[in-house]
Amino acid sequence: MTKRCITLLGATGSIGLSTLDVVRRHPERFSVYALTAGTRARELAALCREFRPRVAVMADSCAAGELARLLSDCPDIQVLAGDQGLSAVAAAEDADTVMAAIVGAAGLAPTLAAVRAGKRVLLANKEALVMTGQLFMDAVADSGAELLPIDSEHNAIFQCMPADKIRDPKAAGITRILLTASGGPFRTFAAEQLREVTPAQACAHPNWSMGQKISVDSATLMNKGLELIEACWLFNTTPEHVEVHVHPESIIHSMVEYADGSVLAQLGSPDMRTPIANGLAWPERIEAGVAPLDLFSIGKFHFERPDLQRFPCLRLAAEAFASGGTAPAVLNAANEVAVAAFLEGRLCFADIPVIIERTLAVIPVVTASDFETIFTKDAEARECAREQISLLSV
Ligand code: NAD
Ligand code: MG
Repeated sequence: MTKRCITLLGATGSIGLSTLDVVRRHPERFSVYALTAGTRARELAALCREFRPRVAVMADSCAAGELARLLSDCPDIQVLAGDQGLSAVAAAEDADTVMAAIVGAAGLAPTLAAVRAGKRVLLANKEALVMTGQLFMDAVADSGAELLPIDSEHNAIFQCMPADKIRDPKAAGITRILLTASGGPFRTFAAEQLREVTPAQACAHPNWSMGQKISVDSATLMNKGLELIEACWLFNTTPEHVEVHVHPESIIHSMVEYADGSVLAQLGSPDMRTPIANGLAWPERIEAGVAPLDLFSIGKFHFERPDLQRFPCLRLAAEAFASGGTAPAVLNAANEVAVAAFLEGRLCFADIPVIIERTLAVIPVVTASDFETIFTKDAEARECAREQISLLSV
């Protein structure tokens, strides 16, 4: 048994809490070096009292001040703030494993810090990889970091591949990746109905309980678009070799097809503690608190092709990946801005893809030669998306 010391980026989120639930079950195996959160100091303070990390980080100094006050009777827990604090705990020598579970572009810098420090990086934050693609994978290769996918589909694909051929599917005899999608809460809605849906409806996913942003992404199918790009980078393949299958039961988490006609699948109850436990303990297997799969009660599996007319985000993501360079970063930034506007009631659900498409049309694609170029395009795209939203609402 390998004992692991963990930095958990995004401890108060859906993935963060599921990670801590797995950690809690195995005190002999895991210790917590650092916990981080955005603004919820009270919630992080409670987690610090239970898990006793050496360091706790909040996204800004105001929240860090509040956390320090709440933990004033715990002098053994150091409180840090901001990007510097996040990157410091991600790269700290005392931690060997980093769970990257901050949502959105905000997670990029600390995730990269963990990669550059050569950690075992459990990647939940898909946006970081979508934005920086080749540069991110180059950083992994340069540092020798151990990158393990936590996104349930990618973890399933990883489990269905020979461990030494993750980056060389052709050599493994792999012909296709079958990426499954639930289809989200609006799978059966007509196009006109999509204009009326509310944030509460979008966040009520039929099978998974997740953070708000990824819930909306699942409802627009942008989540599958981001995952298509994520799969191409992680498994060194191209979109022609990845086919999205809508599978509303969310029991098959993805599949890998081999040259001899075999299709390997990973199945399980829709519970993120399975891929999290897989990444934490890999290559060992540990109990994760997940309900055993009862196929008799599920009865049937269904499969459909995704409808790109009603859900254009998947098409936009595939096009952005094909354009290459900074296009996926622009796609991601515009999506983050549009989803935030939808959640705040400033944008209709059906206009999320409109904003993304317009932003992609305005911001020219350039070669993603360095991280600076990507950050610049990310900022330009956010500005442009905000402008497009204000134009729509007049
Ligand atoms: P969430 O919103 O529940 O949690 C996000 C976490 O990030 C919180 O701890 C929050 O405090 C922190 N955070 C937010 N903004 C921050 C900032 N600016 N600086 C520092 N910290 C910040 O999100 P989630 O559902 O747990 O998803 C996290 C990531 O994992 C996302 O990238 C998502 O796409 C990915 N993911 C989630 C699931 C899931 O089931 N929830 C599945 C697959 C992948
Ligand atoms: Mg997923």
